[in-house]
Amino acid sequence: MTWLLPRLVAVLIATVLGGVAGLMIPGHSVPLFGALLGFAFALGVIGVRDTLNGYRLITWLRGSQETQAPRDAGLWGELGYRIERSIRQREQSAVAERVRLTQFLSAIEASPNGVMLLDAGDQIDWCNSLAADHFGLDPQRDRRQRVTNLVRAPAFVAYLQGGRFDEPIRMPDPRGRRTLSVLVRGYGEGLRIVLSQDITERENSDAMRRDFVANVSHEIRTPLTVLAGFIETMTNLPLTEVERKRVLVLMTQQADRMGTLVSDLLTLAQLEGSPRPHADRWVALGPLLAQVAADAAVLSAGRHTLKFPTPPVEAQIAGAQTELLSAITNLVNNAVRYTPEGGRVELSWRVLADGSGEIAVIDTGLGIAREHIPRLTERFYRVDGSRSRDTGGTGLGLSIVKHVAQRHGGELHIQSEVGQGSTFRLVFPAARVRAAVAPVAALTMAAN
Ligand code: ADP
Repeated sequence: MTWLLPRLVAVLIATVLGGVAGLMIPGHSVPLFGALLGFAFALGVIGVRDTLNGYRLITWLRGSQETQAPRDAGLWGELGYRIERSIRQREQSAVAERVRLTQFLSAIEASPNGVMLLDAGDQIDWCNSLAADHFGLDPQRDRRQRVTNLVRAPAFVAYLQGGRFDEPIRMPDPRGRRTLSVLVRGYGEGLRIVLSQDITERENSDAMRRDFVANVSHEIRTPLTVLAGFIETMTNLPLTEVERKRVLVLMTQQADRMGTLVSDLLTLAQLEGSPRPHADRWVALGPLLAQVAADAAVLSAGRHTLKFPTPPVEAQIAGAQTELLSAITNLVNNAVRYTPEGGRVELSWRVLADGSGEIAVIDTGLGIAREHIPRLTERFYRVDGSRSRDTGGTGLGLSIVKHVAQRHGGELHIQSEVGQGSTFRLVFPAARVRAAVAPVAALTMAAN
């Protein structure tokens, strides 16, 4: 307030000067008159100056206020300065608010859920791009549109108009490709927020789990029913020794079938629940393939020509021995089971040009029609159910093979033609393949 004292002093000086001037006016020797005249003159001067300064300030205020407010050392200068400071502070806090709003909207934009804000008339105020995608909206064009004019799914319209939002609803998206879970919440005065989530995958995996449980129950119930029948027969009927032995053989077959099924299920569960096999644990293929060959010979019982690599393969694959054994055994056993007597089953190993390793199991068996091939690795998928069961199949073998291949970073390729036989190729990436076993001496030296 540096202007206050000079202003008072100016008025005082003007008054005194006015008084002196009044004394000097001929015929008016009353000093009071001169003082009043001087005071009025001083006020007049100050008034004119104030009017001019006020006018400058008002002109500035009427404008965009982008320039500096008019500055002088007096009352109007301070007024201008303070008004400008308060305007600048408001501008700054408005900018900060805008930044906060932008950040807030970006956070909602990044949300894994669709978010749509509706006003009291159910018109769209704002929606993030996920909500726009879920409901088939255009975030810009559809603003201020009534949402029920754009999202016409009856379930959604009824939900929004019903006003009971305790539970989310499930509805198809407008293109009918996905299932959405939609939840509405009220806030403010009649405002609503609509949250949407794509639950297609969850629904699919729920359906798969239900199918899986139904399949497992069916697969277990069948041999159980047969076993129960045999038990009843043995309990109620007087059987000869020959009949009794035959029934016991059939019962053992059913029990074995259940055992195989349970062990395949356990293998699958382990494959799905355990971490990926180490990439630095090397498994020698030679002994592994020798074991597979021995199992195949037992299964074939001389009915097929079996051909395995000779001399034994020297390569190694990085991974889990039990998993690799299970995958290769499954492929070779399938080849034997689905190849009629007199057919040929061959296993070969080679390192491809890019360093990846390939195990191929080739048979001259029944072959598979093209339409079945993409589905063979689904759990319990069988081309011919009765043949699979008759030969001890569970319908889980190729599913296990595919899992093992994927866990080792590899792939399973199937080529087949009905009546022409099949080729199943397991390809492992170069990083998991060591073409030849390093000599022991070299290893020892390296270790030193
Ligand atoms: P399964 O226990 O029934 O053999 P898999 O998952 O191993 O189950 O195989 C799925 C289906 O693929 C089999 O039921 C069979 O129809 C077909 N299949 C698998 N391997 C062969 C093969 N080498 N030749 C012909 N069909 C095969």
